[in-house]
Amino acid sequence: MSTAATAAPVNLLDFDVDGLVAWFAGLGEKPFRARQVMRWMHREGCDDFDAMTDVAKSLRAKLKEVAVIRPPQPVRDSVSTDGTRKWLLDVGNANAVETVFIPETRRGTLCVSSQAGCALDCAFCSTGKQGFNRNLSAAEIIGQLWLANKLLGAARVDANEAATEAATEAAADLEAGEKDNGRIISNVVMMGMGEPLANFDNVVTALHLMLDDHAYGLSRRRVTVSTSGIVPAIDRLRDECPVALAVSLHASNDALRDRLVPINQKYPLRELMAACRRYLERAPRDFITFEYVMLDGVNDSDAHARELVALVRDVPCKFNLIPFNPFPNSGFERSPAERIRRFATILIDAGIVTTTRKTRGDDVDAACGQLAGQVQDRTRRTVRLHKAEEARR
Ligand code: SAH
Ligand code: SF4
Repeated sequence: MSTAATAAPVNLLDFDVDGLVAWFAGLGEKPFRARQVMRWMHREGCDDFDAMTDVAKSLRAKLKEVAVIRPPQPVRDSVSTDGTRKWLLDVGNANAVETVFIPETRRGTLCVSSQAGCALDCAFCSTGKQGFNRNLSAAEIIGQLWLANKLLGAARVDANEAATEAATEAAADLEAGEKDNGRIISNVVMMGMGEPLANFDNVVTALHLMLDDHAYGLSRRRVTVSTSGIVPAIDRLRDECPVALAVSLHASNDALRDRLVPINQKYPLRELMAACRRYLERAPRDFITFEYVMLDGVNDSDAHARELVALVRDVPCKFNLIPFNPFPNSGFERSPAERIRRFATILIDAGIVTTTRKTRGDDVDAACGQLAGQVQDRTRRTVRLHKAEEARR
């Protein structure tokens, strides 16, 4: 038996195009073969080498010996009354992460996870409260898109059915120079479990695949990374794979942000704003999206809104206000609707485009920050939390 056959098989979902070309070179295979297999895997959703009919039989046999195409396994599939669909995916060792599909008129957005848990411990986040287990592999990240495409019926939008609102929007995008890959998932947001920029290399490999014409061919403007603000990684993303950027701001001054988003203690607001300006030099969109969770009596006053306006003065941006999604023992409450409206008005009156996120998928716990999954905490956080709770009693 060859040594290759005894080694663990390589999961080809772990490679972007350059990676696969290099790995194929190791097998003595030409780059075009790698691109061919890439298209089968990602464009056709194929996980069976035998079905790759235009790939030489000898190569198929070789691949079967040393490689697999293995996405994460769904263990639960829930559909909300509003059409939001959520999958719980097994990522081994009793860990599970979540992927959410949010349908719009004709297309939809897939919300993708990057880590099992999260180490950053934001005060209002259910993922953060569960602690951190590990980074997802590139295969587990892109595997979420692979799987969602498949489970949504590998549906491609029929180009002939053009007379709908979304088709009109898509046509406008095409005019604006965007390509139409005809897939039902038109947007990806890295807003599931985990901090994408804390798993930089694997996330960037997956982003390459989302953008590559041999794989998913999504527009850079329709792939969004959301970060709590890891400044050096924002710079790296700008240099290595600029896509749309959302920054979880959540506070208008350092004292408050230090408490709500602890990574702020390391990268305070001045540095974060400067990184946002640098990012915009290369970004596919000419604004940063600031996410702002509305926490009753904590960060939602008129004074906070005015402080925000001053804070972002030099950063072209839009605001997305997220009504807090409660979870047990969070210690926070959602701001009342009227307060959110008033807060938005102050930003809008200052000339900042501001939207308030509709809460989707509430009945299947698929709303922002409710992605609980199942995480075996490998930090000491859960122990610390229990001790703190005991001490309080
Ligand atoms: N780690 C990344 C992306 C994942 S969270 C980040 O922090 O940006 C996606 C968004 O949901 C972030 O803006 C996050 O702050 C927000 N969020 C977290 N918990 C929430 C909750 N309980 N209610 C509403 N939004 C929440
Ligand atoms: Fe991590 Fe984002 Fe949750 Fe903060 S909000 S704990 S960075 S997942």
